[in-house]
Amino acid sequence: GNTKIGFIGLGIMGDPMARNLLKAGYDVTAFTLETEKVEQFAKDGGKGASSIAEAVEDADVVITMVPASPQVEAVVLHEGGVLENIREGGLIIDMSSITPQTSIEVAAAAKAKGVRAIDAPVSGGEAGAIEAVLSIMVGGEQEDFDAAKPILETLGKTIVLCGPAGSGQTVKAANQLIVAVNIEAVAEAVVFLKKSGVDLGAALDVLNGGLAGSTVLTRKKDSILAGDYQPGFKIDLHHKDMGIVTDAARAVGAAVPAGALVAQLVASLRAQGDGGLDHSALVRSVKRLSGE
Ligand code: NAD
Repeated sequence: GNTKIGFIGLGIMGDPMARNLLKAGYDVTAFTLETEKVEQFAKDGGKGASSIAEAVEDADVVITMVPASPQVEAVVLHEGGVLENIREGGLIIDMSSITPQTSIEVAAAAKAKGVRAIDAPVSGGEAGAIEAVLSIMVGGEQEDFDAAKPILETLGKTIVLCGPAGSGQTVKAANQLIVAVNIEAVAEAVVFLKKSGVDLGAALDVLNGGLAGSTVLTRKKDSILAGDYQPGFKIDLHHKDMGIVTDAARAVGAAVPAGALVAQLVASLRAQGDGGLDHSALVRSVKRLSGE
């Protein structure tokens, strides 16, 4: 449509998402820290900006897709950021995975300036972003969700309003708990099967056809078999998410014992210099624990 979108954060996720918005006909102006990515985006039919202000000044909608709460605060709230430059009545869609508290603060700061804001973190990984089949969990007001929905539909397939500001982040935290524990279970099974001398490819195929089957197994099988831990989703980011879910669970008195255990394993991978690897590198951690 004629909607003008400012897009901040052309990373593993943001870059293909911004391109899907272009494909859908939106007028997209993007800014990210890596200049060469902005230039490439402009070469490929988008518009490049050299600052947040430039990406945002003409926008009706601003999408942010940056690593964590500190970056969202810097990009949205700080001097020269989105709130200072977006027009009144504009809509901020933060799609980063951050603490629910930060999303609540962003929504409040936006409201005080006559700007609308929703949190809309995603699940589905790089492949989901490229294929525009992300699951998008939204926190915010119904009318802002309704306004964002056509845009979100060009990025994802399952798009659900989960409750008021911060709710999308709470659901995303639960998502990250499930994914991490699932990957750890797969990692333990893989090392066990390998050490037992079973044909790993055949084993994973038949496992994936039964109750043990999962999107994790489907999406990660080939890279696990190849021992390829290129991200994907970085251990550093999953470490951040395990912190969010364990804090949020403690705040409401929910027990997450398996999540807390996997959080420690993720932290240990990071401490060993594996923070830049894909989260499937939990296999590497189980191998080390198994003396390999
Ligand atoms: P990434 O590290 O690949 O990209 C982050 C981008 O943010 C970079 O391009 C960087 O330039 C930009 N950025 C950081 N600070 C900035 C600033 N101050 N101003 C402008 N740009 C800035 O990360 P990613 O994998 O794309 O993840 C982004 C978010 O999406 C994270 O919150 C992550 O947890 C979440 N997420 C990632 C995946 C995945 O599979 N990679 C899946 C679901 C959700």
